[in-house]
Amino acid sequence: MPKPSSILIEDAIVVTVDRSRRVIEGGSVLVEDGRIAEILGPASRASARRAELKVSARGMALIPGLIDTHLHLAQSLLRGCADDLSLVEWLKERVWPMQGSFTKEDGRVSAELSMLEMIKSGTTSFVGVDVVSRYGFDGIARAVTKAGMRAALAKTIMDSPGYGSKGSIMPAGLVEEKEDCIREAKSMIKKWNGIDGGLVRTWVAPRSLGGCSRELYEEVSELAAEQHARVTMHLAEVREDVKYAKQNFGMTPFEFIEEVGLAGPRSLFAHMVWLSDSDVTRVGKTKSNVAHCPSSNLKLASGIPRIPELLMAGANVALGCDGAPCNNSHDMVREIKLAAVIQKGRLLDPLTMPATTVLEMATVRGARAMGMESDVGSIEVGKKADLVLVDLKKPHLTPYRDIVSNIVYSAMGSDVDTVMVDGRFLLREGKALTLDEAAIMGQAQKSQDELISRSGVKA
Ligand SMILES: [Zn+2]
Repeated sequence: MPKPSSILIEDAIVVTVDRSRRVIEGGSVLVEDGRIAEILGPASRASARRAELKVSARGMALIPGLIDTHLHLAQSLLRGCADDLSLVEWLKERVWPMQGSFTKEDGRVSAELSMLEMIKSGTTSFVGVDVVSRYGFDGIARAVTKAGMRAALAKTIMDSPGYGSKGSIMPAGLVEEKEDCIREAKSMIKKWNGIDGGLVRTWVAPRSLGGCSRELYEEVSELAAEQHARVTMHLAEVREDVKYAKQNFGMTPFEFIEEVGLAGPRSLFAHMVWLSDSDVTRVGKTKSNVAHCPSSNLKLASGIPRIPELLMAGANVALGCDGAPCNNSHDMVREIKLAAVIQKGRLLDPLTMPATTVLEMATVRGARAMGMESDVGSIEVGKKADLVLVDLKKPHLTPYRDIVSNIVYSAMGSDVDTVMVDGRFLLREGKALTLDEAAIMGQAQKSQDELISRSGVKA
């Protein structure tokens, strides 16, 4: 569908998540050439005349596109195949053997399925972590440009097939040589970084502790600086990580990561469940970013990270859905609610993690974690038009008094009606426009059946 040069989204409840956190009842947003050109109150209709296309949004909330900062594209084909196991067994018995049997076609199908689900539930940007060579980086990057999402794709870097102190547990199909990882990371950065008007970015993803040597982490730090690439990795997810760092380096996982030069505002660490008090302070001091994945932490029984404490320390905390076998969905709307309620329960304090804070984590803080805060994350004039309409005409969203409360505590991803990225519609009235929904779902079922028989996993 050709992209109209100007679109007016009329008569919505506009939840801006701007600096003053304005909510405009009966507001309209004019989009021109992919950016937000004007935000209008109910009284001003002057700009309506110049819009090529008008979209009535009465009875809907217009929110910034949601940002998922930690997602495994390749795991969507594994949905339902790895439940009720602890992290290391989950990886060793199910996830890795299946991922180690992927073809490049599986990599593409899994990425398309992930993006279809994200688009249908209001996610516009994401960080796709752990892209290994056998999933086919090129095919995945092409799928992102076809879907029209904004994505950071992070190439896996490794030189050991272990996890923590459990050495050599990775199947041969997933093991890569260090030199190949570095070479591919460089070539993918050169080929894809900034492609499609900046929609695709290329990052590097060193494996979690036990998957890289100290020298390799140091090399990744230098590589990221030299290539101007951002870094993401799993850190301090389970107690095993703390044990491994203490035994091998005599320090905590975060202290080690700081020592090898990887802490800082250009790094995004997933989970961060097992941090010492001093780690929490250091994460804030170094302005490191955290991808908090509450569903995954609970389902894999990893623990509950100290998110309010990290925010107090000055860390930038965003949200992530992680993978289909540990969540098991990519619905950020559900993740927002969980992020709020688990901390209230942990601290026995209903005032902690208010609705506004968790909505910020899914929008502006996500944008900062991706290094895109000047372009996306809020509805402000000049920013890119990454916008989502939530249909409020539902029993579970009625009545409303505080729209942010209804979105955080009552909404579901399936309430999303329309999604736009860069001023281009990816979803209208719940229907995907850039991806073939029926074809992707049919292919995904077939691919999973084949993957199970090829990998020999008893799922
Ligand atoms: Zn993960």
